[in-house]
Amino acid sequence: MKVCVVGSGGREHALALAIARTADVVVTPGNPGMPRVTPQGLRISVTDAPPEAVEADLFVVGPEQPLVEGLADKLRAMGRAVFGPGADGARLEGSKAFMKDLLTKARVPTARYGVFDEIGEARAFLRDLPGPWVVKTDGLAAGKGVLVTDSIAEAEADVEAKLSGSSFGDAGRKVVVEEGLVGPECSLLALCDGKRIAPLAPAQDSKRVADGDEGPNTGGMGAYSPVPVAGDRLVDRVIDEAVEPLLGALRRQGIDYRGVLYAGLILTDEGPKVLEYNVRFGDPETQVVLPRLDEDLTAMLSEAASGRLRTEPRTTPGSCVCVVLASEGYPISTRTGDVIEGLDEAALHDGVEVLHAGTREDEDGRIVTAGGRVIDVTATGRSLSEARDLAYLAVKHISWPGMHNRSDIAAAAASYEAATANEATEGGAS
Ligand code: AMP
Repeated sequence: MKVCVVGSGGREHALALAIARTADVVVTPGNPGMPRVTPQGLRISVTDAPPEAVEADLFVVGPEQPLVEGLADKLRAMGRAVFGPGADGARLEGSKAFMKDLLTKARVPTARYGVFDEIGEARAFLRDLPGPWVVKTDGLAAGKGVLVTDSIAEAEADVEAKLSGSSFGDAGRKVVVEEGLVGPECSLLALCDGKRIAPLAPAQDSKRVADGDEGPNTGGMGAYSPVPVAGDRLVDRVIDEAVEPLLGALRRQGIDYRGVLYAGLILTDEGPKVLEYNVRFGDPETQVVLPRLDEDLTAMLSEAASGRLRTEPRTTPGSCVCVVLASEGYPISTRTGDVIEGLDEAALHDGVEVLHAGTREDEDGRIVTAGGRVIDVTATGRSLSEARDLAYLAVKHISWPGMHNRSDIAAAAASYEAATANEATEGGAS
């Protein structure tokens, strides 16, 4: 079987590795870290050819932009099997207003909100909310169109900048204003075949650029799985309260949704509430969820693409942590073209994968930086603490001028996990 993965980042690298356990993989356009032959003799190759020109038994579309632009529809019209929603379903991510309206119709728990294209009404709505305040662009903004603030003045200024088009162009000419929810965050990715749902393990990503959740939002600076604060029953609850009803609402709109439904959640005192839905695998959540999947991913994606999802996902008991290494200036600006040192040494550690997220090969065959998020170091271990220590051990080998990363990915979760494990042991002994 041959599978074509569309995309070029760390998420697509993780997908390619997981699919390559049971199929040959070609990635378009891919990146220079991907080509390899697996121990079973399966291959990952890359091509510059557009997806429409690639021959494969299954297409898996990574990023949201081509989904929103209708790539899955185009491929399906050519008779191809595709894992990824059509443009109708991808509107969930392409328009936050559409997503919030559908959540309300499906009675999925979510933050109170209003949709505005005019400053006066938006300001009145803001003043009616208790704060913190949240302002989001309606359209796609590479994960950076969201402001969460304790200052109503800042929220008002942000609404003005977005609506005028000065901060996000056309993506911000309509905004969603929301009440700010409080609680730990968690992501749940579920594979869907239009009717059935197969949830993967919960994960958490870190969106802010600096330690302690300081600084501006990024596409994601790291992630881990499992999420100890989520508890054992979270997955069932989120499927019942948030994913099933949404898939039903999509079906009632005539949308046959075959792809990932990714619920971004906040675990409030009143229970989990949906912050957002994405229509693709999360980046970098995928990098920590797929290594924990104890099932044939290729089979699951094929089944979902053909509307016959049967395989129950099983998750390994281990943990996985991903640390993103970013280029100087990210996320405000991006310096590129720096030679990356130490990639091979980092990958020598057992249990470590060095995924390429934004790299290219220069004229001399050296791997250089080519984006904001450049390298994702993932590590697996028996506990979050073990996986985290291993990931940071591997990170130490890698460097280029201006490289930066967070040093606290999964730190609080690892402490929480260790403390609850101790309590359980002490409880059992007494
Ligand atoms: P989104 O792109 O909607 O996932 O938002 C990006 C980030 O902004 C989320 O991961 C949250 O950290 C934060 N956020 C979004 N909406 C809210 C909300 N209603 N309350 C609190 N934080 C939020």
